[in-house]
Amino acid sequence: MYKLASVWGLKFKLLYILYAMNTQTEALRQYFQSGATQPFAFRLLQLNRLKQLVLDNEQALYKALHADLKKTDEDAWATEVGFFLSELNYTIEHLKGWMQPKSVPTNLVNMPSSSFTIQEPLGVVCIIAPWNYPFQLLFTPLIGAIAGGNCAVLKPSEFAPATAAVMRRIIGDLFPENYILFLEGDGAQVLPPLLTENRFDHIFYTGSTMVGKIIYKLAAEHLVPVTLELGGKSPAVICDDANLRVAARRLANPKFSNCGQMCIAPDYILVPHHLRDELIKELIIAIQKFYGADAESSEHYGKIINDKQWLRLTSYLGDGEIVYGGKSNREKLFIEPTIMVGVQPDAKIMQDEIFGPILPILTYASKEEALAIIQKNPNPLAFYVFTENKADEDYWLTNVPSGGACVNNATMHITNHDLPFGGRGFSGTGGYHGKLSFDTFTHTKSVLKTPTWIDPGFKYPPYKGKGWLLKRLIG
Ligand code: NAD
Repeated sequence: MYKLASVWGLKFKLLYILYAMNTQTEALRQYFQSGATQPFAFRLLQLNRLKQLVLDNEQALYKALHADLKKTDEDAWATEVGFFLSELNYTIEHLKGWMQPKSVPTNLVNMPSSSFTIQEPLGVVCIIAPWNYPFQLLFTPLIGAIAGGNCAVLKPSEFAPATAAVMRRIIGDLFPENYILFLEGDGAQVLPPLLTENRFDHIFYTGSTMVGKIIYKLAAEHLVPVTLELGGKSPAVICDDANLRVAARRLANPKFSNCGQMCIAPDYILVPHHLRDELIKELIIAIQKFYGADAESSEHYGKIINDKQWLRLTSYLGDGEIVYGGKSNREKLFIEPTIMVGVQPDAKIMQDEIFGPILPILTYASKEEALAIIQKNPNPLAFYVFTENKADEDYWLTNVPSGGACVNNATMHITNHDLPFGGRGFSGTGGYHGKLSFDTFTHTKSVLKTPTWIDPGFKYPPYKGKGWLLKRLIG
């Protein structure tokens, strides 16, 4: 009897949440249709207010990011708050120019018309974020949504609750709920009804490929355009002539920063047989410089987000021979920076996106052999090659279709506003950052403007006898 009552209680609660969500999204739609969000002055004001309130909450964000992921203030600045502010400043600086109509040439048959494009706001958009950079990955797309003149629903991850609480306060203090709505909860419960019962004008999703498929299907029901920022296995290839010391430092940094819980962290390394031990030696030097010999006691080393992820990650530790690290502590959600060799290409760790501080090093005898391993997980989000040789660089960039890539570097392409960021195929669709964020959250509308002072008769039927002229004008 009690069980039955609690099932009905849950059902009633869900129905109520659904009703409330639908009413709220309807209010967003009405606010968008009022035109209030569209003027340049309005957009600029909101971006500046957002900047100020984030700066006012900087310390609170650091505290929250430490509670959720044990990030240091400096790390939280570089990868979350500072990253966001850099995007915001860039957008504030360029927004006016981006909003101007762009003139394009007009073809002969339409002369003397003029042609131009305008960036039209999309309407009401939904932004869904994961937990690994919980602030940056929700608020950076928001910059694009506001700059584009839209209303937005923001859905943070339920697994970074301290950061979500600060973001909720910022959004609640700044924006009315009919402009930017902060919607929390278990994604699997909240999002399917939200996306089924409401038609958004765009869904911007960042998260796993598995959930990305669910979101894509839900969006398809209403033909809603999507941006999918997904994950995958991003490989790093070391060539014969690579500078191993530099490569080790540049790979170890993103692999163990945030405990490897980074979408573009190098997932595994492919190295020629004869360079393997030298590379491992350099990786160990780098790890110990970053976190000391005992990462568990290092204040600079993060933690795994939760028990579920800790269990998943520690289950990979038997997939090869551990040559460095391997220690773990469930209570502290700690996994030591770990290097593994002897991993078979078909082991579980080579099928899943690792998304943690375990680094398999695989060796190869020929480019073809290395390429075949990479091709088991096509379209990585990022690809890294370390070489001084232009022919090798070209070979790898041409043969590994990926979202983005670095030569002699790893992950840093994400920091350049002028480089679009996004995946392809299995690692995502669409992109953002810099101007592309504005383009993603607007529609490029083509306009042809024709004067009325001239209206030549040859453009109208009957066309008999005018074929030669039409061929000239259109051909
Ligand atoms: P996730 O897919 O589990 O969750 C992301 C969001 O989806 C959360 O807000 C969650 O509430 C929601 N969600 C979860 N299950 C759902 C369901 N069944 N139906 C509807 N919504 C659901 O991802 P995560 O574990 O939070 O993040 C890790 C993944 O995100 C990794 O694969 C990583 O590579 C990827 N990622 C990609 C990028 C990028 O920019 N491409 C950035 C960060 C993380």
